[in-house]
Amino acid sequence: MEFKVSELEREPIDFDLELDPGAVDLGEEAVQVGELATSGQAEVLHEHRGPKDIVADIRLRGKFQGKFEIPCARCVEPVQVPLGAEFDLIFRPAEADAEAPERSITAPETEIGYYQGDSLLLEDVLREQVLLSLPVRTLCKPDCKGLCPRCGQNRNSQPCHCDEGPSDPRWEALAGLRGRIKS
Ligand SMILES: [Zn+2]
Ligand SMILES: [Zn+2]
Repeated sequence: MEFKVSELEREPIDFDLELDPGAVDLGEEAVQVGELATSGQAEVLHEHRGPKDIVADIRLRGKFQGKFEIPCARCVEPVQVPLGAEFDLIFRPAEADAEAPERSITAPETEIGYYQGDSLLLEDVLREQVLLSLPVRTLCKPDCKGLCPRCGQNRNSQPCHCDEGPSDPRWEALAGLRGRIKS
């Protein structure tokens, strides 16, 4: 869904949508499962920088809710995670700040994003909001055994035998050290 500044200038636009998987490009970090529900409102806020210098910012307030699959941090098996968040964001035209790159950034301004041209795409905003809401570390279960670093076997489903025998050079070095200490 595209919010055009010219349309928002007339009146704020409400939205209430269910987006199919794939509508929001999440890259490899997460896969959307089922519909992504989102609702809220877009409006224009005018920044009066000078008598003839008025910048049309887009304020987007809303929320999203959906289910996603995220790879387990240890065994990379997909884990289903419900994600949802509320947002209240300001987008400024990309060219509005282009001439003043050295303008100091004050704390509230760090929350400001930019829109290109004369419109803002809801899907772009959601992409960023979903990625921001991802947990730092997702595990399929608290005691996930992970993948064997040597044979790649998922050790949750089947133990491998890589740890048996003295084939790991680190263990061989340790065994040699022990032998020397004893003698
Ligand atoms: Zn796992
Ligand atoms: Zn192994």
